[in-house]
Amino acid sequence: MADTIFGKILRKEIPADIVHEDDLCLAFRDIEPQAPTHVLVIPKKPIPSLATAEAVDRDLLGHLLLVAKQIAEGEGLARGYRVVMNTGSEGGQTVDHLHVHLIGGRPMNWPPG
Ligand code: 5GP
Repeated sequence: MADTIFGKILRKEIPADIVHEDDLCLAFRDIEPQAPTHVLVIPKKPIPSLATAEAVDRDLLGHLLLVAKQIAEGEGLARGYRVVMNTGSEGGQTVDHLHVHLIGGRPMNWPPG
């Protein structure tokens, strides 16, 4: 997989506001937050997008969601939040390292743009 800005953040080559790290993933605040809480949860494994994830990644993908839930609880998002995985160009993905957006702290609209 080609290196990305998230690869640099994973290797601590560029700074990020990290809110969680474990052996499988890193979570940090989005540089351009779309809500009071906007955290990105990324796997340490370099998977470009959900479209390229495989069956072997099943547990890892589940882990990312449970970490997002844990962060949401820590951020006090008891009234709800949104979890998004933009996938591919038409899905709005701009960084080709799979990531989960955790967005909350304000009411969300539907459908998204
Ligand atoms: P995507 O559009 O691929 O779903 O989301 C990529 C996200 O990464 C965007 O919300 C964007 O603001 C965020 N982002 C891009 N570059 C950086 C960076 O250098 N640091 C942080 N913390 N977030 C970034």
